[in-house]
Formats: sequence, structure tokens, C-alpha cells
Amino acid sequence: MSKINKDDLKALYRSSDINELWQSYQNERVIEHPNLGLISPNEYRQNFYGKLCPFCGKKMVHGKVRYSTQSKQEAVSRGYQYKDANGKDYINQVGRFSRLYFHPYYVTLDHKINKARCPELLFEASNLQIMCWKCNQKKSDNNNFEAEQTSNFVSDLAREALNRYKNLGK
Ligand SMILES: [Zn+2]
Repeated sequence: MSKINKDDLKALYRSSDINELWQSYQNERVIEHPNLGLISPNEYRQNFYGKLCPFCGKKMVHGKVRYSTQSKQEAVSRGYQYKDANGKDYINQVGRFSRLYFHPYYVTLDHKINKARCPELLFEASNLQIMCWKCNQKKSDNNNFEAEQTSNFVSDLAREALNRYKNLGK
């Protein structure tokens, strides 16, 4: 598939459309990563298999076949269950109908600025960060985390712009 036009992304406003688009491009090489080159979201995640989550320091896993299961009982026996922020038993899962339970430290690709808020940054390497599923879950429960990340991102942009002006002066 060819490169995605940012203006087309900008035109998306329904979060279900944005999620659907994100899902449909999981195996397309649409991310221009400064170190990893042109890669797909899945390849991006795969690169972090066995590496440490930058937020909690746990070793992350990747690979649906090995690290997910359809059986809740199996998920519990594999130790996928943990206590969430409210002290409730929790297992990461996707799918409303055919449910899959995932390893808590499964690699996820997170959008620093929420993809519903800024769809034009959907595949922008600078807006993507790797974290384990458990941390991602915590993040989505905690708006402060997002606000903090957003302000870091904006100040990074400002710093970058400043550096550019500095170079012009030379
Ligand atoms: Zn983590």
C-alpha cells in the first residue's frame, strides 16, 4: 500500500473510523522510523520482543500464538491476571465476541497524543511509543498521564523548533 496522505487522516473524526484504519494498517509499512526505517506497526512491536518496558522495566513479550489464549481459565493459570489500580483482578483482553486474553507485558504501540484527538499523527514515529500492555492500560485509566505525555511532546516540538532557529543563525 502506498503512503498515507496526512490530509486524509485529518479528515477522520469518528473514533471508530480512526481505530478501524489503525487496525487495517497493522501489517503495512507506513511508519517512517528514524532508526528502524520504513516499518509496519506489527514489525515495530516485534522489534521490542524481550526488551524492557520503558515505564515499568518489565521484560516485554510479543507473538499472539504464544502469549494469548481464548480461555480465561488458561489465562489465569498462565499468570496473566493482575490487580488493576482499584485492586480488582484484571486480564488484558480484546474482542467483544471471540475474546482473547493477553500476557500483561505484551508489547503495545501507544500514541502519545490520543489518536482520536490527532488522527493526522496516527503513523507519525515521533507520536508513537512502546510500552507494555499493563502500562498502556494504566495510561488509559489515567488522564493525568496523557496530559503529562502531551505536554512533554509539545515541549519537545518547541525545543526542536528552537534548535532549528539556532542553526539558521550560524
Ligand atoms: Zn510496563
